[in-house]
Amino acid sequence: MSDPHSPAPGPAAGPAAAPDPTAGLIAAADAHSAHNYHPLPLVVAEAEGAWMTDVAGRRYLDLLAGYSALNFGHRHPRLVAAARAQLDRVTLTSRAFHHDRFAAFCTELAELCGMEAVLPMNTGAEAVETAVKAARLWGYTVKGVPPGRARIVVAAGNFHGRTTTIVSFSTDPEAREGFGPYTPGFTVVPYGDRAALEAAVDEDTVAVLLEPIQGEAGVVVPPPGYLAAVREVTAARGVLLVADEIQSGLGRTGRTFACEHEGVVPDVYVLGKALGGGIVPVSAVVSSRAVLDVFTPGSHGSTFGGNPLACAVALEVIALLRTGEYQQRSAELGAYLHGELAALAADGAVRAVRGRGLWAGVDVDPAFGSGRRVSELLMERGVLVKDTHGSTVRIAPPLVVAKEDLAWALGQLREVLTG
Ligand SMILES: *Cc1c(COP(=O)(O)O)cnc(C)c1O
Repeated sequence: MSDPHSPAPGPAAGPAAAPDPTAGLIAAADAHSAHNYHPLPLVVAEAEGAWMTDVAGRRYLDLLAGYSALNFGHRHPRLVAAARAQLDRVTLTSRAFHHDRFAAFCTELAELCGMEAVLPMNTGAEAVETAVKAARLWGYTVKGVPPGRARIVVAAGNFHGRTTTIVSFSTDPEAREGFGPYTPGFTVVPYGDRAALEAAVDEDTVAVLLEPIQGEAGVVVPPPGYLAAVREVTAARGVLLVADEIQSGLGRTGRTFACEHEGVVPDVYVLGKALGGGIVPVSAVVSSRAVLDVFTPGSHGSTFGGNPLACAVALEVIALLRTGEYQQRSAELGAYLHGELAALAADGAVRAVRGRGLWAGVDVDPAFGSGRRVSELLMERGVLVKDTHGSTVRIAPPLVVAKEDLAWALGQLREVLTG
């Protein structure tokens, strides 16, 4: 094929046909790493923007974007420059001392969220744990829930991370089974069901914790009005609404936050992934003073949370988001993406399509093959996607993806499914 995007067939161009190191590197990784992932069989060596290059020189369009950790693409020049500049100044102090990027980071992030205060952590799971601790402590010290009784309502199909407490309220057997004894204090209700949620809230409920769109579940968008209804119920019952926007937030859906699509402002945002610009892990809980002031010195912490390098990169991420360009790109290219996927669905090539902005879950006909099979066939054509839950393929390109590259990739998907 003469397609400029397709990986060159046969040995990669370059100095005299070096042997392809891919198989050897994968075998070595298999021999010496835990097997808690099943990666696609390519070995990435370099990346820029929406493109990655493997160790044999083959190029791939990245339609996964590190599960939305790479919303701004690989090595965005402004993010790399911010990181480099900070590397030459100071990288870690611990929170035992103040450092000169911390105030700006907290101020700017709070402002982006329309909130008052920030508690920085590193990974998404840590931020969710922090939100759980904040909600419980708020329940006991502010709401007046009797000691040991606080409950948090969560949704079936959730994904909030991998710690023992978080997997305790997962409904995915793969994520949960074998890791007990489980942390009590969580009530699981069906996602998208207002009545069930309302019925689950009682006087001991301190928070409702939800993803405004469930990413790992297959980019599941709740029925229209659901988030607004949850906001109404939680406000009326004196319960915190905690929005896990770790994957849905920071431009992915065409807005800064997915909650905005329903005009909902939660009490607590949980952020991660793209906040670190694809360079360092940065997460945060962003809320009101009334909620975050429950913590006092010593009651919570993190050695790396809010470190100077993390703050410098996140500050540049916030500056990028403030331009509004990325949200707009996501909205515009997202409309195009969903139009093309709807056409594929109309042609019967896919069963169902969900999502918002540059984010889609595509259910392929199980008779055609698993999501994994589709991912492998696309990889052979230079397009990287990731399957989730059997026959669903997730599409979440970096928001900097060029429209013609996205169009080309969707052409590859159509050929794989109909060819
Ligand atoms: C990825 C993710 C997390 C966990 O983040 P880690 O950085 O992997 O710990 C939590 N919630 C949601 C919605 C996520 O997508």
